[in-house]
Amino acid sequence: MSPTFAANPVVAHRGAFKKNSLPENSIASLKEAIRLGCTGSEFDVRMTADDSLIINHDPHFNKLEIEKTTYLELTQFKLSNGEKLPTLTDYILAGLDKNLQTRLVLEIKPSGVSKERGKQIAEKVVKLVKELNAGAPIVYISFDYDILKRVIELDPKASTQYLNGDKSPAQLKADRIDGADYHFTVFKKNPDWIEQAKKNKIILNAWTVNDAATMDWLLANGFDFITTNEPELLFERAKLSPIISGN
Ligand code: MG
Repeated sequence: MSPTFAANPVVAHRGAFKKNSLPENSIASLKEAIRLGCTGSEFDVRMTADDSLIINHDPHFNKLEIEKTTYLELTQFKLSNGEKLPTLTDYILAGLDKNLQTRLVLEIKPSGVSKERGKQIAEKVVKLVKELNAGAPIVYISFDYDILKRVIELDPKASTQYLNGDKSPAQLKADRIDGADYHFTVFKKNPDWIEQAKKNKIILNAWTVNDAATMDWLLANGFDFITTNEPELLFERAKLSPIISGN
């Protein structure tokens, strides 16, 4: 069956972790985002010294620098719920299991070693996504423009959104990037970018939005996605929003 993504704007940032005190970027937080029916669940990908792709936000895991440490060494530590540090394979397989509505919003972290290694990470990620036949639900996001450009070279159909907030929607369009996933203050400072995005069919996404007032402002402006640590709150606000509920 092909996916039909949930018709809501809720992207759980690092999975739906907060309400149930789950570890960020755990398979448990991904499963909770799927259970809630979020349209997306975001997670962060890094590469170990021995080229394993793993899921972790910070460059360090239990004080070990991920890029300088092997996967085996990293797995001596568990996540706070007892989970093993997830590999990207584990994470994607969990995300494809009994899920036809939640997109897997895959952030490729730039490498602290070199720009070049960042592109190698992108290449390995795209290769793995192809091997796992996971294409449709994957949305690639990154702060590094060259990482996204490399993803598009390797998979012209890949869905991509840029995070760094320094490119206009028209520029994204010219570079074949599908979405502007910017800190919400970028849109407050450049309100004309909202219209410009819509005109250019650039997807609008904002991070990391945890308060009702900002959620309401983005909903009223017709944002496609809102990335949040508070998915339960965003579902409530979306229900009340005239645009989403169609009133
Ligand atoms: Mg992230």
